[in-house]
This record gives sequence, C-alpha cells and structure tokens, in this order.
Amino acid sequence: MSAPSLASERTALRLQLVGRVQGLGVRPAVARLAQRLELAGSVRNTLQGLEIEIEGAEAEVAMFQARLLAALPNGCSVREHSAELIPVQDRIGFVIERDDSIRPLTTCVPPDMAVCSECLAESRSPSDRRAGYALISCAACGPRYSVIRTMPYERGDTSLAEFPPCPVCTEEYSSPEDRRFHAQTIACADCGPEIRAVNAGRQVIGARCDAVAAATAALRDGWTVALRGVGGYQLLCDATNETAVARLRARKSRPAKPLALLVPSVACAEQFAFVDNAERRELVSPVNPIVLLRRKGTAALAQSIHPGLNTVGIMLPTTALHDQLVHGFGGPLVCTSGNTEGDPLEYEPAAAERNLAGIADLWLHHDRPIERPIDDSVVRVIAGRPVTIRLARGLAPLSLELPADRTFMALGGHQKSAIAWCNGQQCVLGPHIGDLETLSARERFVQHISSIEQLYRFVPDAYACDRHPGYFTSEWGMNAGAPCSDVPHHQAHVAAGMLEHGLLNERVLGVAFDGTGLGADGTIWGGEFLLAQHASRMERVAHLRPFVLPGGEAAIREPWRVTVSVLQQAIGADAIATHGLGPVARGRIVPLLQLLDRTQLHTVTTSAGRLFDAAACLILGIAVAQFDGEPAMRLEDAADPADTQQYPFPLIAGEPQQLDWRPLFDALYNDCRSQVSPGAMAMRFHRAIAAGIAAVIREWPGLPVVLGGGVFQNRLLSELVVAELNDERRLCLPGNIPPNDGGLAAGQLAIALARYPSST
Ligand SMILES: [Zn+2]
Ligand SMILES: [Zn+2]
Repeated sequence: MSAPSLASERTALRLQLVGRVQGLGVRPAVARLAQRLELAGSVRNTLQGLEIEIEGAEAEVAMFQARLLAALPNGCSVREHSAELIPVQDRIGFVIERDDSIRPLTTCVPPDMAVCSECLAESRSPSDRRAGYALISCAACGPRYSVIRTMPYERGDTSLAEFPPCPVCTEEYSSPEDRRFHAQTIACADCGPEIRAVNAGRQVIGARCDAVAAATAALRDGWTVALRGVGGYQLLCDATNETAVARLRARKSRPAKPLALLVPSVACAEQFAFVDNAERRELVSPVNPIVLLRRKGTAALAQSIHPGLNTVGIMLPTTALHDQLVHGFGGPLVCTSGNTEGDPLEYEPAAAERNLAGIADLWLHHDRPIERPIDDSVVRVIAGRPVTIRLARGLAPLSLELPADRTFMALGGHQKSAIAWCNGQQCVLGPHIGDLETLSARERFVQHISSIEQLYRFVPDAYACDRHPGYFTSEWGMNAGAPCSDVPHHQAHVAAGMLEHGLLNERVLGVAFDGTGLGADGTIWGGEFLLAQHASRMERVAHLRPFVLPGGEAAIREPWRVTVSVLQQAIGADAIATHGLGPVARGRIVPLLQLLDRTQLHTVTTSAGRLFDAAACLILGIAVAQFDGEPAMRLEDAADPADTQQYPFPLIAGEPQQLDWRPLFDALYNDCRSQVSPGAMAMRFHRAIAAGIAAVIREWPGLPVVLGGGVFQNRLLSELVVAELNDERRLCLPGNIPPNDGGLAAGQLAIALARYPSST
C-alpha cells in the first residue's frame, strides 16, 4: 500500500462492534488490517463488544471500514456495528488497548505454606501467649491461596477479615522488629479462628485443647476423625490399627488405593520408610507435600495401608493442630482426602458433616472460611529431583513461563483434572481438582473456573481442550461461548515437558508414555515418540506396535484381557489355549480369543500403560485392577534390581518406526512357564522398556529429549532411562508440572498460545 498523498484529507472514526467479537485474535486481526493500510488508532474490548478508533487518509479509512468484517477471524459474528466521526488527533501507530475497568491481576497469588518451626515452637511452649493455638501462623507461614478473596494479599481481603485482631496482635503487626510485622494472617486465641469437635450426633463436645483431646481419644479407640485442614477436610485414623484402616476404606469406598500417613517428624518417617536427602528436603519444606517413599518391611503399619506395595506416602504436620494431634496420639495416622471416592474434596463444615456422615465418627472443625478448596500435594523424588505427582496445596498456583499477551483457558483432561490460564498478564497452572466422573466433581470443576476468573480478573477470549470429544472438559469448552481449539493428548504431554525445561521453541524429541489418550489418527495412543519442531508442530516418528484393547474401557479394569490380546500376537492363540494364563480360567480365554479374530469390533491402541498391565497380569497374577495404575505400581515395586537380564524389545524400521513387544512377551511368557521369580521378570520387563525407549532416542542424535505422560511417574523406569542415556544426551525429566494428566492443561496452553501468536 502506497503512502497517502499529501493532498489527502485526514479523518477519524469510532467503530463499535457488538456480537461474538472478543474471540481468539480479534484485536490482533484488527491491528494487522490497520497496519497494512498504514492507519493509526486503537482497538479495545468493552463490556459491549469491540471499540475501534481509526485515523488516517480518508480513502484508507474507508477501505478499512469496507474490509473490516472480512478481516475478522473465523468464529466471530458481528450482530451490530456502527460508526461515528471523531476529532482527528494526529495519532501515531495502532495499539491494542486494555480496558482499565477490568484490569487483570498482574501479581502472583501466593501458595499456602505449612506452619514454620518457630510458630511450632511457640505453640508447644507453655509460656508463650500462643501456647496450644491450633491455627498459629506468621509472616513466613500459614494459609494464603486458600484464604485469599481478592488480590492484593491484604487481611481485609482474606477470610480472616471476619476476625479483627486483638490489641496485642495489632501491636505485633505494626512492630517492624516483630516476627509478625505485617503478617496478614496474624491471629491468637483471643481474636483468631478457633477449632471445635463435633460428634456423630452433631453436638459440639469440646473446643480448643478439649477438642484436640476428644479427637485424640477417638483416634485411640480406632475411630475416624474428619479434620478441617488448610484447604479442606482430611480423614484420619490409627495407621497401626488394621480394623480402623479397613473400616475407613470400606466407608470411603476406597478398597485398595494406598493411603498416606501423617507423622510428627522426619525421625518418625524413617521408622516406616527409607528417606534420602532429597526426600528429606521435600518432607520438611513449607510446601509440605505427601512424599512417596520406599517403605521399610519391618514397619508396624496396618497391612491395608498399602496393600501389595512397597511404596508409602508420608507427610509431616501442616499446622500446629496436626502437630498436637500426632503428638497427643503418639503414633502414625492415616491422612487421606475428606471425600467419598469420586466426589470432590469437602471443605465446608455443614456439607462435611452431611456428606461424611457415613465415614467419620468425629469432626474437628475450624471456623476460618476456606475460599478455594485445595487438596494435599504429592511429590516423588526421581533421579534425585522432586517430581510433582499431584499439584495442589503449597505448589499451586504454579507460574508458567509463557507469553501472557491475551486471555486464554486450557481445560485439561478427564482424570486428575486441572486447568491452566493466561489472564493477559500471567500464565498459571491451577491445582488438582480431581477425576470428573461424577456430577458433583463436574460441578466443582465449573465452580473452580469461576473462582479463578474472579481471582485473576479475566474472562477467557478462547479455550483449549483435549482432542477427545467425550471428555467432560472438551464438551464444556466447546459450549463455553468462545472459540475452543482441541489439542492432541500426547502433544500436550510433550509440550508440558518442553515448557518445564524452556524448550518450547526448540527442536526436541518427545517421549509420551501413558495410559490412554486420543491420537491424531483416531486410535488410542499411549506409547509415542513425537519429533517437535516447536510446541505446535509435532510429528509421530515412532510408537509401540499397536494391539487390540478387547472391550475398550473394560480392558483397563481387567488387564487379563490385554494380556490375552498381546499374547495372541506374541505366541499365538493355540499356545495360550493350550497352556492357559495363570490367574484366568481357560473358559474365559477361549471366547475372548474368538472375539479377537473379529478385529473390526475392537479399539486399537499403542498404550504403554496397558502393556505394563499385561505384564503385571502375567508376572503378578493381577487379572483385575482395583484402581487405575495399580498393576504398573505393583510391577514397579516387585522388580528386583539385582537381576541384570532384559527381554528383547526390537525397533522395527518404517515410518513411523515401531517398537515390537512380541519378542518381549514371548520371552516373558517362557519365563513364567519356567517359574522365574516375579522380581526378576518385573526387572527384565522394566529394563526392556527402558532399552526400547533409548533405542528410539538414539535414532535422533543430538536432540534434547523430553519425557512425559503418567508412565514416567515410575521411578524405576525413569531412572533406567537416565542410566541408559544420561552421558550422551540431554534428558528432560518431569519436575514441577505433573507428568500425568494433571499437567495436561499446561501443555495445552503452551500449544494453543504457540498456534496463534499474537501480533503485538
Ligand atoms: Zn510461622
Ligand atoms: Zn490476637
């Protein structure tokens, strides 16, 4: 476009557009058109829609007006538009303006922090004025995210606003030399929130120390206590009492999933588990997560805490209340989320009394409102560094290093759901919400979204979701009233890893191993090698050899079905029919083999998680999984590192290449028939998978490698891959962003922002 002639008259217009005009990239599209025509002015979102001011030579302004609607991105619809002349101001350049009335939050929301050692010492000291105060905190510790109503973080905008500080607290708050100088959560027994114990008949049976004493007595008697923690309720019982633990499991409908322990100190944790230096750092950090540790065989714990597992989750006290309880009780306590399995975490006293009525025998409430429920975090140290398994209290909200020049929300997956967002100022991964199977869990998900929009002061211009149309989050995103782009599941896992390591714009090889996710070709993926040119451009260069998932979802609950499917290819139907399959009746195998011949009926998958299931069925006889991930967890635990052999797992040429597990399962099946020990077989299986991964990686020399997907929560496998390759290659293991679906939203956000780069 040539420059306007000097003779051309300058003019200025204000254009108003009403309709769906705050979608993805509308303002950048307007700015690009203006810049092409060398016009000055501005564009901004208003409550009504879009307002554009445009100034320049008359002919070009007219051209801008004529081309505007066609220049808007797909998905926009303009219901009304108007134009009026405004005074010429000799503006220079074209800018995208923000509306001052909805200024998005620029500062980071601080996470909750566990009680510090100084506060703990005060609460334990009989002469301190906060002796025994269960909710003690200071400038360096205490609740944050869970009590903040609006930012900036000031007491008047937290749920402590309901507790005006007493004169002594006020004095401490305003003394620069005091530990509680400007501590927004400052409180004491005279002015702060209090605790009370309520029995099954909903009667208050004690406050303060009496409440703790009542709860301790109930725990000693083998009863279950529902304790209101920082972010919601926790269920506690005696971890050494088999009857108590079994009762809690039965009432909570949690038959087998491991339960975490609350212990008073690292020394106590060491009675039950091996704790190395990195794990000790995690245990005592203010994040205060549940740390997954290798348990000691001799520990006097109830067997049903971790049935069949050598791993145990342990946490230290989060609050002085926890400290008083574990000390008063004098032993390890089970500490698990306060909900019925599948339902969201309880956090309101009245609802907790109602919904946990069949589970708890006593409630220990506090009266400090929880603004946003948040569960306990879970961390595991892998290859010497902490990996977040569940991003929650203390770790969330997690800041993400992404460009933050527009508003966006990524909705995550279906299991372990969590959202990530960009409010135009910052990019953040939010806390674990939970699986979205039940109506109440879905309601919590939607409630969480509005709470985040209010706290971060934005409304998303666009959404990103998983490609699987059946996920609740995908359905929700497609109906959210703004453009929603779908992201392939495994690309999101790889992008999350690239984001974690600052490699979003680099060429990397991504390894995404997980349970199941919808792939680009409409089949179920889960053992993928993706070559990324950058976050939004990835190509599948290798994968596991596909196999049939007989019965779809049923195969996830019943690993024996996968085993039959895999063995049919590895050793042939006749061999299985002749020799059988340890834990499974022959009468069930033969009909399944017949069914497998009719391949058109079946879901096909390359899932690494399901391959672990099949191996666990053969090696440990796990025909039916009691919870998602159980077979793989038990297989990892069973492996005997002393065994040095490995099964063959060849890489077959082709585009994409395939890792062929048939020789692996052939060898494994022979070992089973020769009565090789399960520990040796589990180890040989892990070594084979690690070697297979390394073989593909070696096909792509020089590239950094990003590992993602739930399979890499497996410490043994991850460390074997590291041992194979660490000397020759940059290996990027998961860290702050969970490798499982809890980190999916971060990867979706990274990809969506890369797909649609802003013009500003
Ligand atoms: Zn403190
Ligand atoms: Zn006070």
